Amino acid sequence: MTSFTKETSSKCSALALKIIAECSTTKARACQLTLPHASVLTPVFMPVGTQGTLKGLLPEQLKRLGCNIMLGNTYHLGNRPGPELMKKAGGLHEFMSWDRNLLTDSGGFQMVSLLKLAKITEEGVEFQSPHDETMMLLTPERSIEIQNALGADIIMQLDDVVSSLVSGPRVEEAMHRTVRWLDRCLKAHSRPHDQNLFPIVQGGLNANLRRQCAEELVKRDVPGFAIGGLSGGEEKHAFWKMVTLSTDVLPKEKPRYLMGVGFPEDLVVCAALGCDMFDCVFPTRTARFGTALVPTGQLNLKNNKFATDFRPIDENCPCSTCKEYKYTRAYLHTIVTYESVACQLLTIHNIAYQLNLMLSIHESIKQDKFPEFIKDFFKKIYPEENYPKWAEESLSSVNVHLREC
Ligand SMILES: [Zn+2]
Repeated sequence: MTSFTKETSSKCSALALKIIAECSTTKARACQLTLPHASVLTPVFMPVGTQGTLKGLLPEQLKRLGCNIMLGNTYHLGNRPGPELMKKAGGLHEFMSWDRNLLTDSGGFQMVSLLKLAKITEEGVEFQSPHDETMMLLTPERSIEIQNALGADIIMQLDDVVSSLVSGPRVEEAMHRTVRWLDRCLKAHSRPHDQNLFPIVQGGLNANLRRQCAEELVKRDVPGFAIGGLSGGEEKHAFWKMVTLSTDVLPKEKPRYLMGVGFPEDLVVCAALGCDMFDCVFPTRTARFGTALVPTGQLNLKNNKFATDFRPIDENCPCSTCKEYKYTRAYLHTIVTYESVACQLLTIHNIAYQLNLMLSIHESIKQDKFPEFIKDFFKKIYPEENYPKWAEESLSSVNVHLREC
């Protein structure tokens, strides 16, 4: 592991954020985020590895794509192999042979979404072990203990997660509890010198609650912030309003991580709304279903029209599937969803697409040409200018008007 010098004014930080450029039209910024295992250019997309690996891809392949930060799921890794074994292995980086940055989640979201029997009390999240059916309790302290053992560069507070489709008093209760649990997490955190603990802005789709939550979190000495509880099937116009409201409150000098968001259009819009970091299973999941991401949208390679199409997925894509090995759409059409190698070839392409999209966003912000980039990006997907209303509205809020040349 490389040694790391503190560069920020925050006492509890193993992170430095350098703002390289700010867009003069939108709220976007291009930054260099320095973490213990590597520097990361933002806005950044972070692929998700479930059991310490990305489905169908080796860490080495991910590194070759230029990925400097990926996610690991605490829920899966905390259960099996478990934190004690993980400590013996020297942490998750060693365990999975990944010498770049890692971010782990608190395990709470996975629990609530995967286990029907999860019950939330002030103490923590109670759940039935999927392995031996005994009742277990994930407290804020236990979540941090596991994440300290895993040793990721960024770790997340345990939050009280409520579906974005729920409204009423439960949302308010969860917001206040999330703040209380943050304080317990901060107290339990034993490695602030080399692990960055991010709090999570909650508050559902209620503007007052979300603002109140963000205002409460910024009072704490933390190295960065996450915006959570979104992208769970809510209306898009409610989604973007909660995002922009959160970035208005969060301090400029710290990174903002929008959790669970990764559709290409969402990435472009939310970068314009001032978010720096994103994660989502979408590009890898959609690859398993035979769908490739391209500048014009998506190619469903199962479609018969690709049976005689001898072009690569994307002629301008630098990934090994397209450029090095020149696999044709026709070939991929034949093996897609039948052969696991097809899943690997598409996953490589889709991750490369996302990473390159983010680099292009970064570069266009640096050149102060991000508004033009946004218009080009949307025009390629919607040549007839039938843009989704939420995209037009959200972008207008940051002075980008898709229909104006
Ligand atoms: Zn490609």
